[in-house]
Amino acid sequence: MSRWREVADGVLQARYQPMDLSVCVVRGAKGLLVVDTRSSHREADEIRADLQELGDVPVRWVVNTHAHFDHCFGNYRFGPASDLDAVIFGHERVPAHLEEYERPMLAARIARGDEPADDWREVVITPPTVLVGASTSLDLGDRSVEMVHLGRGHTDNDLLLHVPASSTWLVGDLLEESGPPMYGSGSFPLEWPDTVERLRSLLEDGAVLVPGHGAAVDAGFADEQCAQLWVVAELIRELWDAGVAVAQAVEAGAGRWPFPADGLASAVADGYRQLDQAPRP
Ligand SMILES: [Zn+2]
Repeated sequence: MSRWREVADGVLQARYQPMDLSVCVVRGAKGLLVVDTRSSHREADEIRADLQELGDVPVRWVVNTHAHFDHCFGNYRFGPASDLDAVIFGHERVPAHLEEYERPMLAARIARGDEPADDWREVVITPPTVLVGASTSLDLGDRSVEMVHLGRGHTDNDLLLHVPASSTWLVGDLLEESGPPMYGSGSFPLEWPDTVERLRSLLEDGAVLVPGHGAAVDAGFADEQCAQLWVVAELIRELWDAGVAVAQAVEAGAGRWPFPADGLASAVADGYRQLDQAPRP
């Protein structure tokens, strides 16, 4: 059975464990574009081996949907230091996020001896070679793709890949299908639903959305998840307005959170910090 599933014309998805991580490929006449590279050299090499199923077509481009380790720590095995020498696109705030969050996280994993220890020690954090601001487009030969940043949400560096010819959007972790949305390092819980609404307004009829974790979804799924993201944003704001301490906020909202409470402490912490820093009306 093939590793790759064609989710739309010319757009293939492979789902990898751990974390049910999506790696996508857009086929172009000039070569392949690979979206996200997993967590290590070894995992990236597994992608490379699986790409051979698609024939003897060179990987010319890589896009990172954002800077979280599970989406970009395999960059080294695709980028300028590798035999592929692919161009790597990412949002302009990816390098700063890598230094602020991912590099210290990697050092902590190595110091603790987290498994797979050899894999973590081998990682060479490799930033994108081309930084994208609001948007850019790329010609793959027989089709073009667009990369767009629609605002802050899962991180401040989410970059979506749009394939207009097949009405497909690779949305990274702005949406998640196989688990609740992840409020991880550097999330913007109060702005996240606005960003999903912006995406929603751009979707073509019948658009296919591929999340960073899980199966492809449709606009209806995006609407439902957006409504849940609104509940989180509004509840954080309500608790903050009521003067509930950050350490008590998850508990104080018990029964009202649309996602499991154990994933929400960092949403509350990030939301509170952003409210604390916002200018008072
Ligand atoms: Zn992520």
